[in-house]
Amino acid sequence: MTTKKVITRFAPSPTGFLHIGGARTALFNWLFAKKTGGDFKLRIEDTDKARSTQVATDAILDGMAWLGLQSDGDIIYQTHNVKAHIKAAHTLLDKGAAYKCYCTPEALKDIRENMPSGTAFRSPYRDNEKDLDLPFTIRFRVPEGSTHISDEVQGDITWQNKDFDDLVLLRADGTPTYMLAVVVDDHDMGVTHVIRGDDHLINAGRQTLIYKALDWDVPIWAHIPLIHGPDGKKLSKRHGALGVEAYRDMGYLADGLNNYLLKLGWSDGDQELFFDDEAVKAFSLDGLKSSPARLDFDKMDFINSQHILRVKNTELLALAMPFLEVHFGGPLPETLRNTLLRAMDTLKPRVKTLKDFVEQADYLMRSRPIEISERAKKAFKN
Ligand code: GLU
Repeated sequence: MTTKKVITRFAPSPTGFLHIGGARTALFNWLFAKKTGGDFKLRIEDTDKARSTQVATDAILDGMAWLGLQSDGDIIYQTHNVKAHIKAAHTLLDKGAAYKCYCTPEALKDIRENMPSGTAFRSPYRDNEKDLDLPFTIRFRVPEGSTHISDEVQGDITWQNKDFDDLVLLRADGTPTYMLAVVVDDHDMGVTHVIRGDDHLINAGRQTLIYKALDWDVPIWAHIPLIHGPDGKKLSKRHGALGVEAYRDMGYLADGLNNYLLKLGWSDGDQELFFDDEAVKAFSLDGLKSSPARLDFDKMDFINSQHILRVKNTELLALAMPFLEVHFGGPLPETLRNTLLRAMDTLKPRVKTLKDFVEQADYLMRSRPIEISERAKKAFKN
């Protein structure tokens, strides 16, 4: 029996920065691909033209590069695959698994307002197919019955199909919706495992129906709980729902952040620290935790400090240099750089982040003679 090569993907929408939840999703996908000898692919889901920006795309690419999560092969842009999305919508139409819906926005509003609560959307055109010379959307015809998935993290889940809306696959302007595009792209890319946030769990049900209607293999699902703040509440900016570049600017190492994010949502025992390729060797889907993780900055600091200890002094000084230069007010003279290098073994056990070098090395950067504070003078008197 031949087993299929594993292909995973990270599929961010370029509507904002690469936040740490996204970075963790990317990391798990990357680790699983590397562990199994498969490929990890990056797909930018840029079909929402109004909300996608180049700045966000650049921030995502930059963040991924900093974290060392290279994609195998070219980066894929969802907008480049629109022809395939349209083709799939028409295939579904031809098979009777989708239908043309001519409802205007006003008609939709009216239907929604008069729908008994707890029922899913069904268009009046579902059972009354027409070929009119009017703008139409292509809607999925949710079949009877139920949909079951066996999620690697969430376990067995069954939905009643009557609870799923007949979703739009192709809008009246011919653009695909997320629900269609994601299925077509994952299929085209040969994705075998979809590891993503559990905010997409219900989409796995909807997408399973689309895969089946197209007679395509359904990927293996693994929906990971989202990251919460230290107080257990949904992660917000206040908690640290920042872009990964903010963590870089705070002085975390990419290896330190990766190690922290790994432990925040995955475990196979007590091992806390993973250096070099240890995480790739240890990773498995079994270790993905099913309960939400809470951000813990003390732990992040501790893990980062342990990674700092492992970095060679010359490299560490280079990494800390941008922080030191800001503090110093410009490039450091060579003599000072040499002094800092000689002091590295003493300094590095005292820092948690690269930024901490500023405080720890401050006394080396001051011009001599150093002015002695009143407090210090007192201590000397004794
Ligand atoms: N583009 C979606 C998002 O950023 C992810 C889609 C997916 O992973 O299936 O939430």
